[in-house]
Amino acid sequence: MVSGMGLDSSLREQLLKEAQAEQFDLIVIGGGITGAGILREASLRGLSAILVEAEDFASGTSSKSTKLIHGGLRYLAMGHIHVVREAARERKRVHELAPHLAEPRWLMLPAANRFELTKYVVGVTAYEKLGQVAKQDKHFNLSGAELEKFEPLLDQNNFPHACVYREYLTDDARLVMANVRAGIQAGGKAVNKLRVTGMYKEQNRVRGVEVTCQLSGESFVIKGRGVINAAGPWVEQICSLDGLPMPKSMVLSKGIHVVVPADKLPVKQMTFSVSLDDRPVFIVPRGNTAYLGTTDTLHKDAEVWPEVTAAEVEYLFEPIKRYYGIQLDRQDCLTSWAGLRPLIFETGKSTKEISRKDEVWLSESGLVTIAGGKLTGYRKMAEDAVRKACELIGFKFETLDLDEPLPGGDISTSLRQCALDLTQSFPMEDKQSERMIQLYGAESREVLSKGKESLLPNGSVFDGEVAWAIEEEGAQSLEDVLYRRTRAALYSPVESLELVDPIAEIMAVRLGWNPERKEREVAKVNQLLAADLDFRS
Ligand code: FAD
Repeated sequence: MVSGMGLDSSLREQLLKEAQAEQFDLIVIGGGITGAGILREASLRGLSAILVEAEDFASGTSSKSTKLIHGGLRYLAMGHIHVVREAARERKRVHELAPHLAEPRWLMLPAANRFELTKYVVGVTAYEKLGQVAKQDKHFNLSGAELEKFEPLLDQNNFPHACVYREYLTDDARLVMANVRAGIQAGGKAVNKLRVTGMYKEQNRVRGVEVTCQLSGESFVIKGRGVINAAGPWVEQICSLDGLPMPKSMVLSKGIHVVVPADKLPVKQMTFSVSLDDRPVFIVPRGNTAYLGTTDTLHKDAEVWPEVTAAEVEYLFEPIKRYYGIQLDRQDCLTSWAGLRPLIFETGKSTKEISRKDEVWLSESGLVTIAGGKLTGYRKMAEDAVRKACELIGFKFETLDLDEPLPGGDISTSLRQCALDLTQSFPMEDKQSERMIQLYGAESREVLSKGKESLLPNGSVFDGEVAWAIEEEGAQSLEDVLYRRTRAALYSPVESLELVDPIAEIMAVRLGWNPERKEREVAKVNQLLAADLDFRS
């Protein structure tokens, strides 16, 4: 069942009116992966729920991760067995729900010698056992000519062996969008650009939220029997609106990624390299680019979004030289992104050592807060938060017998075959069809039926994607479309500057922007694109 107006951006006014008129069972604050997952889990169980997002869906950390749905091999080494077990289970689940958003990929662990290889193999074997990894997904080891064929770029003088195991590649922002839409299809509502500015209380109990529309400036109250705070790096700020302290404090850990052209770093395989300070730096080939990440450093102020520094870029380049013999230069970067891990404080531990586990807290006034966690475990986190909210409002929490695929996830063949099939109806290059399937899955045809013209000659983005983003995915700004719907700013950065005008043109017509609004949107995005390459020294 599709509720009301879904996410059609042109019907926002009506959606806001409905939000004010209705008394919801549940209000969810924050439209990252945690909040999006909660909307879906709540709506599938028959709760009337609304998700309220201050900026755009996935505009926080959930568009800035390494984009791996991973079993957490790293956490095994830290002794966090339950995290590994749960992550492996959830990884399978996400793959079933949306195969295009959890694509199995081999991840290469290069080893400097036999001792190191053995160490990796022991770890990976234990990890596969704990995660009950399927036979076809089990690791294998390579050396010599076989390794050369698998990844010709690897410097075998330094790394003569490799253990290769399975990880799953996602697109974080698209995963958020799929969950938001699944929540709406199950009867929920979701609004972006609507900031929670206060708690609405009756007899000292939280019974709703005060919100301000970021587009009109209008403020009003949305009422609900339960409120869940899923604001990621900002959960503490939301708790302060409740006027009550959180049981534990948060620590924010900054992580950055940079994107370079595939011809500067022509890797074939995803690689897990190890930095000089013994941290993982992933190298992920994607389309015509490869991205590298990440870092893990303390970030003090959630009010200030972190910037990428020149030193951090150099830090990510170092393993590239050691593993591939390639010296990258800052000028090679096409773009970058920085995110904040919302971690729960643990005494005496650095950000690298803090567990990534999540916790659910209930305040005296009845505000449910969910903190910590990872993209990979979002579904389970969402379930836990909804269970707690159900206890609070006296709603029977039920385990779902049947899990519906996420929008675009109804896929019964390989992604490669899906891409080939797509080209039968919509003639296009292989790279274009692969990109479409990775982003939109089984809905690619519907997207292209709204427009199948490439926005640039031989470009990767189609006009139908802009129409789809407006009609089905609540895109309100040029930034929403370029950064989080089409993902062009990340995966097609060479095109993104040129895409600004054609996308703005379509949006202006469809959303009735006047020339000043259009100019503002273009200026803002151009500023963002420039800032992505302006590394602070
Ligand atoms: P967010 O995505 O930040 O969402 C919170 C939302 O709340 C934001 O959209 C924000 O705008 C909104 N909000 C804030 N204040 C208000 C308000 N007042 N009113 C309304 N809305 C509000 N995990 C993995 O599983 N795999 C990975 O590969 C991986 N890589 C990572 C790499 C990096 C560099 C980082 C930083 C994290 C990585 N993670 C990874 C972790 C994962 O990305 C995060 O745990 C997850 O995205 C957090 O999601 P969230 O919804 O809790 O927070």
